[in-house]
Amino acid sequence: MIYLDNAATTRPCEAAVKGVMKGLEVFGNPSSLHRCGVDAELLVSDARHSIAESIGCLDEEIFFTSGATESSNTAIFGAYKSQGKRKHCVVTTAVEHPATARPIDELERLGCKVVRISPDENGVISPECIVNAVNEDTFLVSMMFVNNETGAVLPISKAFAAIHRRFPKVITHCDCVQGYMKLPIKAKTLGADLISLSAHKICGPKGIGALYVRKGLHLPAFMLGGGQEKGQRSGTESVPLICGFGEAVKLYGGSIAERLEKAKKLENKLFELCEKNGGISINYRGEKSPYVNSISVDGLRSEVLLHYLEKREIFVSSGSACSKGKKSGVLAEFRIPVQNMDTTLRISFSPDTTEEDLLGLMEGIEAAQQELARIK
Ligand code: PLP
Repeated sequence: MIYLDNAATTRPCEAAVKGVMKGLEVFGNPSSLHRCGVDAELLVSDARHSIAESIGCLDEEIFFTSGATESSNTAIFGAYKSQGKRKHCVVTTAVEHPATARPIDELERLGCKVVRISPDENGVISPECIVNAVNEDTFLVSMMFVNNETGAVLPISKAFAAIHRRFPKVITHCDCVQGYMKLPIKAKTLGADLISLSAHKICGPKGIGALYVRKGLHLPAFMLGGGQEKGQRSGTESVPLICGFGEAVKLYGGSIAERLEKAKKLENKLFELCEKNGGISINYRGEKSPYVNSISVDGLRSEVLLHYLEKREIFVSSGSACSKGKKSGVLAEFRIPVQNMDTTLRISFSPDTTEEDLLGLMEGIEAAQQELARIK
C-alpha cells in the first residue's frame, strides 16, 4: 500500500497507539479526587506538558478539544463574544479551511464585516495586505499557517507582529494544523493569541486537538458544563486520546528539522518526476511546506485517476479530503489555471513516506495516462 493522503489524516504511530491503550487502562476520571482520578490526571498533565513544550508555551496555555475544528470554533466565537459587541470587523484570508471559514461566515451572518484577503496573481498573500485591512473596528484576525490544499505558507509572524504593534488589542488566531510538527512553530514567534492544533495529522489519534490561549487573554468558553480544563472546555477529558496525542508529540517533537530535510528531498523528487513525465503540472511552487503538494495530470479527471490509483493500492486525494469531491474555491484563489482545476491531485507526506512510494505513484499515473480515456 502506498499512502500519500497524509494531509487528510495519518496512520497513528505505534507510540500513539500504546498511549491510547495506556489511557484506557488508567480509566479514572481526571476530576475524581481519589487515586484513580489522580493517576488519570497525571497522564493528562504529562501530555499537556509535551504539547506545550512543542510550541514553546506554558502548560496552562494548552486546552484539549475534540480537534482543530472545535479549537477554531472556540477561538472565533470566543473572540466574538469577548469583543464583537463593541467592534465589528474580522480580517481573514480567502483560503482558510472550512473549520475557520464557516464560523467566520456565521459571524458575518450575525452582522460582522468580514474582509477576506485573496492571494495576488502569484498566489502570494503579503503581510502588508493583511495589516492594511485591519482598523480600529477590527477585533479578530484569523489566518492559517500552512494551506491544506497547496502547502502554501502564509506570513503569520510578520503580519501578526505588525498588527499587534498598531492594534495591540486585536485577537490573532492561527490554524496551525498542517504546519504543526512539520515546520518549526513557536507560539511567541508566531505572535498568535490563539492557535489550533490537531493530533490526527501528526500520527496521533482522531478526535483530539488543542487550543493554545495566550496567558492573560480571557476567552469565553464554547462548551459549558462541569468546568473541566479550568472552565475553558467542559466535558470529561478523553484521557486515551490525550495520551495518544502526547505520545505522538514526544516521538516526533525532537526531530522536526531532520524530517523537514527529508520532506524537501521527497518534494524535489516528486517535482522532478512530474517534470520528466511531461503531462503533469505542479500547481503551486511558491513558499510552501514540502509535506503538501498539488499537481494536475493533463486530461485525467481527479476522481477517475484517484479511483484508478486506489485499485493499485495507491491512495491520494483530489484537492482536499474535506471538500468531498466538491470543486475547490481555494485552488482558484491560488490562481491554479482553470484547465487544471478538474485534474488536481493532492500528494501529502508523512514521516514514513519514501522515495519508493513516489516511484510507485508515478508508475500508477503513467499506467493511467496510457489506459484511461482523455477528457474532451
Ligand atoms: N484546519 C486544517 C488546515 C485542516 O487541514 C484540518 C483537517 O483537515 C482542520 C483544520 C480540521 O481538523 P480536525 O479534523 O482536527 O477537526
